[in-house]
Amino acid sequence: MTFDPETTTFLIAGPVRIHPRVLRAMSTPSLNHRGDFFHGVVAEIRELLPQLFGTKGHQVVLTGSGTAGLEAVYAALLPKDGRTLVLTNGNFGERTNEIARRYSSHVTTVSAPWGEPIPVEPVATELAKGDVKAVCVVHNETSVGLANDLAALAPVVKASGALFLIDGISAVAGIPVSIDAWGIDAVVAGSQKGLAAPPGLAMVHLSDRAVAALQPGTFYLDLRAHLKSLEKNDTPWTPAVPLFLALKEALLLLKEEGLATRIERTHRLAEATRNAVDALGLELFPNRRFASDTVTAVKNPPGLGDPEVRKVLERQYNVLVQGGQGALTGKIFRVGHMGIADWPDLLVTFAALERVLSRARGTPATGASLKAIVDRMP
Ligand code: PLP
Repeated sequence: MTFDPETTTFLIAGPVRIHPRVLRAMSTPSLNHRGDFFHGVVAEIRELLPQLFGTKGHQVVLTGSGTAGLEAVYAALLPKDGRTLVLTNGNFGERTNEIARRYSSHVTTVSAPWGEPIPVEPVATELAKGDVKAVCVVHNETSVGLANDLAALAPVVKASGALFLIDGISAVAGIPVSIDAWGIDAVVAGSQKGLAAPPGLAMVHLSDRAVAALQPGTFYLDLRAHLKSLEKNDTPWTPAVPLFLALKEALLLLKEEGLATRIERTHRLAEATRNAVDALGLELFPNRRFASDTVTAVKNPPGLGDPEVRKVLERQYNVLVQGGQGALTGKIFRVGHMGIADWPDLLVTFAALERVLSRARGTPATGASLKAIVDRMP
């Protein structure tokens, strides 16, 4: 079987499978992006965005992938004088570090081993040294399948008075992101993850004090310009019109399901996935207590790598899961279960995985991973 995007079981860690309603919404003739119809679309998106973030605030949509949202935030909010603290424990944390160093001359990094959460103590120690104006952290480290404990980090950041800037790209609409309770000043979401829209848009939530602190930053991604245009249901430059149409439909689907229900469903799928991994005698990559609910990272079975596992899943069963990134290339595979992923996706993926492993190990397939999933179904 060759890869067929129409029928594949698609569980990479984002982009995720897209609902047919969202696909259809994109297929329209050209629109005047300065016309009434499109202004109406932007107005609806503005009304729906609080459903995504779970709170009201200053919220914008940027044409550009999640990284564009991060760059917009760091360019506008990292201090020119004063320190920036970047917390890293994975590939995207390292990316944050790189972006932050373009916009802030005094960056301190607190790192934890990949697979372990960022501990509070060294963060508190750095903050106590003073002059930290912004703290940047990836909430859900997609590269290692781990959710950092923002509830634990938030009080020390809040006490320091620093801006709390969150990469929520694979967290928003997948795990609880308590923006108000944790005192988050900026959170960036990506369209292709928990929201299950196509890739290419970044949604940014800003607190009042973040808006007050905005500097011009970059020209194209100037958050002040975007906020100002949005007041008139407009965008400063030509937006990715088809993606905005898709975004509106994906937000409507999220509203119909409800944010809390989507997060709860994602959690159940994650638990089922972890149980299925156990049933196959495989090992999670991250510390289990902090395992992400949107993406499960699994160590490759001893003696088997991408060619024997992922590539066979893809070629033989048209099932797509994702490999490792950076230092973890060839060492892990990752199963995404966010957005509109559902039970049939998991059942097909693990049926195929169980077959691939039983053949490679020369042992019979028992269906144990499928039972683990069925047992968690509502
Ligand atoms: N941060 C996290 C946590 C991510 O998962 C990703 C993408 O997977 C990114 C940043 C980069 O986002 P994008 O590829 O949409 O620019």
